[in-house]
Amino acid sequence: MWGNLFMVVKNDNRIELLRKIKDEVVGLKESFLCQERIKNGVFPVLGEGNHYAEIMFIGEAPGKNEVATGRPFCGASGRVLDELLAHISLDRKNVYVTNIVKDRPPLNRDPRQEEIDLYASFLDRQISVIQPKVIVALGRFSMEYLMKRFGLKNELDSIGKIHGRKFEMKTDYGTAKFIPLYHPAVALYNAKEKDTLKKDFEVLII
Ligand code: URA
Repeated sequence: MWGNLFMVVKNDNRIELLRKIKDEVVGLKESFLCQERIKNGVFPVLGEGNHYAEIMFIGEAPGKNEVATGRPFCGASGRVLDELLAHISLDRKNVYVTNIVKDRPPLNRDPRQEEIDLYASFLDRQISVIQPKVIVALGRFSMEYLMKRFGLKNELDSIGKIHGRKFEMKTDYGTAKFIPLYHPAVALYNAKEKDTLKKDFEVLII
């Protein structure tokens, strides 16, 4: 019986749904960031990890290394993320990692509102497909977008005030925990912040 149940659960069409999202992003050609991607011959970065992950990490936008490889968080910030995951003995293969913005803003500038608006519906669909129990925002851009999108607008505050706190968010597949954290890049510029991040990551230990 459990074998059959396992088959039913695993036999949904997450791979196809995620591939369709990817194909649609690849097909975007009009906007400035897509034009930059095409001009530079690099990749959009959709996300990677376990399609059945209980925890989904959502960063800001890919950087140079990420668009060169098509993989999220594979550069300097990614090394910090890996260290933070190792700190709580969480295997990166068991989580899903993505960003709101799927193409690189030039010179790693902050994403603009219209860029977030362009890619946000793809992120919403990734969340609906993967259905994580815990959604972790890495940095203020994903924190702000996700809190407004999933009914936590009234709780929104600066990331300095609410990092590491747990919220409940309402999604189309039920409630999920939401945890805003500092972006791993802060530890690159300020070593003390790595300790804050490590402590905050401990809220993910179940
Ligand atoms: N910073 C992000 O927010 N995302 C990445 O994928 C890499 C760096």
